[in-house]
Parts: sequence; C-alpha cells; structure tokens
Amino acid sequence: MPSNQETLEKLQTLREELTHRIQSIQSDVHHKKEPVEKDFAEQVTQRENDDVLKAIDGEAQQTVRLIDAAIRRIKDGTYGTCAVCGEKIAEKRLAALPYVTTCIKCAE
Ligand SMILES: [Zn+2]
Repeated sequence: MPSNQETLEKLQTLREELTHRIQSIQSDVHHKKEPVEKDFAEQVTQRENDDVLKAIDGEAQQTVRLIDAAIRRIKDGTYGTCAVCGEKIAEKRLAALPYVTTCIKCAE
C-alpha cells in the first residue's frame, strides 16, 4: 500500500493537471466569445463545442473538489475509508481513483 505521502503527492500532481486544464478550457471558451463573423451553422457548431468544453470543465472542477476533500482526509487520518459505510476502500479502487471517498458498494 502506498504511503500517505505518496498518495498526497499523487493527488497534488493530479490537482495541478486539472487546474491547468480548467484554465485552458476557460480561456478557450472566453476567446470564442469574442465577436466573430460566421454563418449560422458555424455558430451552432461553436456553441455545441462550448457546451462540451463546459461539461469537461464542470467535471474537472468537481474532481478538484474531490481531490481537496481527499487531501483533507489524508491529513485527518480518514483517508481510505468509505464516507458512507466506514468500511475500508479497496486498494485497487484507490489506485485507479485516488480521490474517491466511497467504497465500490456505496458508489453504485
Ligand atoms: Zn461504503
């Protein structure tokens, strides 16, 4: 099992990556809002692209919040236990998704 320090570093690296992604998405969406001359079809495509970007953005922000919660849990010693039932979260699950706060049963 990885040490808390290793997990903490993993979470912080992941958090940085996501923060960069959110920033680039936001500047991308912002940039597209500048006045552009395009025909209607292109405008529709552009709006759809923006919606996709916003969905990715929302998901990334949600993951950042989960990472912050996981970092707090490492610090207060509750990391690795399910927030719902209190059981230990499977190591495999934590290795794949180090920021999850529930065991696989409670996530379903
Ligand atoms: Zn559970």
